[in-house]
Amino acid sequence: ERREKESLLLVNDFARQFYEDQLYNTDEGKSVGLSYFKKRGFRKDVMERFGLGYAPMKRDALFKAATAAGYKAEQLDQLGLIRNKRDFFFDRVMFTIHNLQGKPIAFAGRILKKDVKAPKYVNSPETEVYHKSDVLYGIFQARQSIRKLDNVYVVEGYTDVISLHQNGITNVVATSGTSLTPGQARLVKRQTENVTLLYDGDKAGIKAALRGVDVLLIEGLNVRVVILPDGEDPDSYLQKVGTTVFEKYLTETRRDFLFFKSDLLLEEAGDDVAARSAAIRSSIATLALVEDPLKRQGYVQQFSNKLGLEESLLINLVNTAVAERR
Ligand code: ATP
Ligand code: MN
Ligand code: MN
Ligand code: MN
Repeated sequence: ERREKESLLLVNDFARQFYEDQLYNTDEGKSVGLSYFKKRGFRKDVMERFGLGYAPMKRDALFKAATAAGYKAEQLDQLGLIRNKRDFFFDRVMFTIHNLQGKPIAFAGRILKKDVKAPKYVNSPETEVYHKSDVLYGIFQARQSIRKLDNVYVVEGYTDVISLHQNGITNVVATSGTSLTPGQARLVKRQTENVTLLYDGDKAGIKAALRGVDVLLIEGLNVRVVILPDGEDPDSYLQKVGTTVFEKYLTETRRDFLFFKSDLLLEEAGDDVAARSAAIRSSIATLALVEDPLKRQGYVQQFSNKLGLEESLLINLVNTAVAERR
């Protein structure tokens, strides 16, 4: 089975090379794909580091090239690269998804035209070598920097990772639009205990951050949150304000999970006493996910100072929530 996986990874690597070759060395790839990436400001060295490519319009380009090179249709099929002898990815710019060791395990293709109804991104299906819920985009490229800085930024999108990376923020990975899973949290934990969620400044981003916080806490991670200005994602905001302002924004608006959550819920609650207690209870339920009693006590102290609540009352509430957990 191990050998089977190794050989599937080799087929994927052929596909990566193919998409890259199409991007850099064909007229169609250069005029459609490369010019798209250039318009977005991506540098060549970064594009190469992330294995960006181009899937041509022709519906059997990869199929023909791969079978001519001796790869089996069955394996291409198993990897989700072809369906009924037709290419799964076509007329899209391509993103290679690597495992921790830097091997290509899957692909994502982004649509080029704005007006068509097709989905913006198409992803490889689940395969023997790609279990989506255990993968973080960019983990291979970010790994060293995550360990060195002992912190990781988690963003939503592929282009957010690439854009930040290009601007010197290399300790960044993406969930690829789905909500953070326990498997992804464990993958992070193998590199660092400190996570900063950096999600889009819209309702969906805030909701995803609230859910992500709990998942990360359950795995024992330290969690901070940065929410971007409304309507921005990390890539768009960075391009808009530049690296210096962007980094300043990160350090100045970064908050511990607890105050991110309680500020948000309390703001929604306004002056209503019942709504405020519900907000506090919900924040306490999240705080109760912190396993380490010392850390928990530290948060209780801060929380009681900030809200002007009796520490003994908070301790009781937290202890009850801890007992009810799971
Ligand atoms: P771009 O800047 O090119 O528009 P983005 O990363 O900002 O890309 P978003 O729409 O913000 O795109 O989506 C965030 C992430 O969610 C994407 O990077 C991708 O991983 C995932 N995603 C978005 N749309 C889809 C889709 N239709 N199918 C699967 N995944 C998607
Ligand atoms: Mn969004
Ligand atoms: Mn986005
Ligand atoms: Mn974007």
